[in-house]
Amino acid sequence: MTVWDDVVGQESAVAALQSAVANPTAMTHAWLITGPPGSGRSVAARAFAAALQCPQGGCGVCQACTTTMAGTHPDVTLLATEKVVITIDEVRDLIMTASRSPSGGRWRVIVIEDADRMAERTTNVLLKTIEEPPPHTVWVLCAPSVQDVLPTIRSRCRAVVLRVPPPQAVADLLVRRDGADPAVALNAARAAQSHVGLAKRLARDAGARERRSAVLSVARRIRGVGDAVLAAGELVDVAKAEAVSATQERDAAEKAELLRGLGVADGETLPPRLRSQLKQLEDDQKRRATRHQRDVLDRAMVDLLSLYRDVLVVQLGAEVDLVNAELAETVRSLAADSTPEQTVRRMDSIGVARTRLGGNVAPLLALEAMTIALRPQG
Ligand SMILES: [Zn+2]
Repeated sequence: MTVWDDVVGQESAVAALQSAVANPTAMTHAWLITGPPGSGRSVAARAFAAALQCPQGGCGVCQACTTTMAGTHPDVTLLATEKVVITIDEVRDLIMTASRSPSGGRWRVIVIEDADRMAERTTNVLLKTIEEPPPHTVWVLCAPSVQDVLPTIRSRCRAVVLRVPPPQAVADLLVRRDGADPAVALNAARAAQSHVGLAKRLARDAGARERRSAVLSVARRIRGVGDAVLAAGELVDVAKAEAVSATQERDAAEKAELLRGLGVADGETLPPRLRSQLKQLEDDQKRRATRHQRDVLDRAMVDLLSLYRDVLVVQLGAEVDLVNAELAETVRSLAADSTPEQTVRRMDSIGVARTRLGGNVAPLLALEAMTIALRPQG
């Protein structure tokens, strides 16, 4: 067992990080780990931090390894934010931390999990310290792609690129680490298109599998414009409900914490001069819920896209595995009822809807146009 065990299907990235750990001349003070969502950026960053702290280069069992992996190593700071943006104050705190020598570890490691969520002004604060950090400080930034970070940051970091891991590698991890059933794990890994976190949820949570198949059933259910409009509404409602359930608890906890911090007792009315602070928090929370809802919708669209991709695979007789192997029958019947050209047009309409959602078009509008395009064409 080593700290790299959970970094699945990333042999070349792991080799680059391992060689930096083993060989001081291959070491550098700023790293940028990029990879598509679910490829394990933060897992890789954490493993790298552990390997840097570990006297054996990442044995996975010593105290340096286990505390780093658990997020409690005193010389490893992780900034993982659920917020839309990383604030300039958060970055200033990190810079303060980065300026201190390690307390007992070999390095002081600072990991920013979503470096793409920094505004330009915030990034500029970070530049100098990344360029000339104290001798035992290492910055590890993570982002979906190098294009998501400003060129000024990019050029100062060594890049490590993660790929989409093969489904079998993801399935093996779910079986080994989480004790998932091998067949369920492989279906989940394929359905999640190798997004490790999603695959884990699909393998573990029957409700998540049901929600996914509800989304996919849209493809079969739409017969006309009326069904299409209804289906779009359903998709939006499901996303809203999921966003609420995912954020409600945390919203309440944050509010309680803020009020405590402001010295306001439970149930007491907030003095007018403190109301703007609460308002700010509520605005942040609203933005977060909106973003989460869009993420859920986007995921639903990626799922739908995977179904039509399977349809196209069957129509073209390509010799590749279906993403939705468990829906082979639906895939075949959709393939028989349409032409490859129609399938491609449908996939395009899903792509257009994703772009519109990303561009802040009202979700219902974007989805209606899409579901209407998905209906059977005579
Ligand atoms: Zn160790």
